[in-house]
Amino acid sequence: MEDRERMEVDVLFVGGGPACLAGALHLMQVIETHNKAVESGTADGPPLDEIMVVLIEKGAEIGAHGLSGAILDPRTLRQLVPDYRERGAPIEHVVQKESLYYLSPKRKVRAPFTPGPLDNRGGYVISLSRFTRWLAGLAAEKGCELFPGFPGVEVLYDGHRVIGVRTGDKGIDKEGNRKGNFEPGVDLMAKVTVFGEGPRGSLAKQMIPKLGLDADQEPMSYLTGVKEVWELPDGAENLQEVIHTLGYPMPSDTYGGGAIYPMSGNQIALSLLAGLNAPDPFQDSHERFQMFKEHPFVRSLIQDAKLVEYGAKTVSIGGYFCMPRLAFDGGMLVGDTAGIFDSRRIKGIHLSMRSGMLAAEAALEALLRGDTSRAVLASYEESLKESSAGRDLWQARNFHQGFDRGIMTGLLNAGYGMLTGGKALANWENGKADYEKMEQVGPYHGSDEPKKPPVFDGEKTFDKVTDVFHSGTKHNEDQPCHLHVEDLSICHGRCRVEYQNPCEKFCPAGVYEMVEDENGGETKLRINFANCVHCKTCDIRDPYGIINWVPPEGGDGPKYTVM
Ligand code: SF4
Repeated sequence: MEDRERMEVDVLFVGGGPACLAGALHLMQVIETHNKAVESGTADGPPLDEIMVVLIEKGAEIGAHGLSGAILDPRTLRQLVPDYRERGAPIEHVVQKESLYYLSPKRKVRAPFTPGPLDNRGGYVISLSRFTRWLAGLAAEKGCELFPGFPGVEVLYDGHRVIGVRTGDKGIDKEGNRKGNFEPGVDLMAKVTVFGEGPRGSLAKQMIPKLGLDADQEPMSYLTGVKEVWELPDGAENLQEVIHTLGYPMPSDTYGGGAIYPMSGNQIALSLLAGLNAPDPFQDSHERFQMFKEHPFVRSLIQDAKLVEYGAKTVSIGGYFCMPRLAFDGGMLVGDTAGIFDSRRIKGIHLSMRSGMLAAEAALEALLRGDTSRAVLASYEESLKESSAGRDLWQARNFHQGFDRGIMTGLLNAGYGMLTGGKALANWENGKADYEKMEQVGPYHGSDEPKKPPVFDGEKTFDKVTDVFHSGTKHNEDQPCHLHVEDLSICHGRCRVEYQNPCEKFCPAGVYEMVEDENGGETKLRINFANCVHCKTCDIRDPYGIINWVPPEGGDGPKYTVM
């Protein structure tokens, strides 16, 4: 019998991103408002005095795994924290000017105007890791219990009702045995559990099909974002505008583009997003990002700068038609886990925060009624649909499907959508998951010639191992590998022939390597799991769907500070 602690909580938030943090903070706010109203006799019902609101996060601290472009649309922040400026919200830059460039390999052409959805004037450039750390401070001040370093590893059910989450054990060696410092995880038994684990949540991945939340929905689509922050020398003038790019280095059959944003402290953020449905089995987002930095225009911006931090993360971009049902008995899905993203604006943080806040309001109603069934929690789905966030999601419903068919179709479809309230040029059903769209090497490249290894200069462009060093990533190596490959014989056989082991290319941290065994014999897959930056690309893009990412020991992973 396992000696495992149980802890009863009222509302459990799983994940320390903007959706759950905004939800936890807002829940504390609405409980306070309710209690004051009861005290003054303007509301019925009992006060909610000893309510326990808990948030767990797998990173060593809140923000350590937070990464985004990012330009924040401040609408939701204004409602959540009206005095956010006085309270020291970490705003890197207020957008006053922006440009959209089309890049060829050596040149740039400035678009005569920035299309409406990409107009960010008045928005804030933020670092998501700094921003979430700040939000966490506000939630803790209001009485929310935050537990960083505690990954959720198992959803607890009573039949089909979610009743909480089990956190990961600590102190297991690589063979699966308990070490001297073994500590079992805790069963957090919750009346309401809110899942905001980010894109491709490891709990949501199991739970969504089990509860049938994705019935009749399209499979989710994803991008991988690779980002670096660079610091300019003292006295150098920083950019005064935000820049978006299309074209080079993305091939025309792959959705993606670049961004360059000024930050505080004379820092500059560079990022590149690339679709995980790319047909090219050699597609490598890290390599494309290095090519982006080699473009004369981009390189001129970082000529005298030094690299501060590197990171990578996926984004759920499928949108409205891919969103699972958001409420179920005992819980709700929020943020990226729920696919809440406006692909027209390449923006999700404010929508995720809004989803967390609306989920908090539904949780309060459920607690007051003493009924946490889907029948009550479904008010969250309704209120999200009717909110400005829901309207934005509806307007963006067909946007990315056009880009799945090439950049020209994407641009035409985007223009048509802008004129028609989000309609599409055609009835495009996706039907396939991203990983099913990868083509085999021979048919795609016209030969079985292996990919030439990329060359890096070590000054502005780096190999994956050097970049991982700049992500602060650490894992205790004496623990079970958290990247579960269901059938290695596929990697060593079919995959090598058909796709030439694309995991070596698509992982932006160089985790997967095909190496000859010690005797110079067979080539086998080596998984350098300690390098994993938790981006989830492999879980999504592996063409056989046989990689399962599960959380490693709590607190391991990247240590982002300015991402
Ligand atoms: Fe991302 Fe998977 Fe590589 Fe980890 S192993 S960095 S989750 S692609």
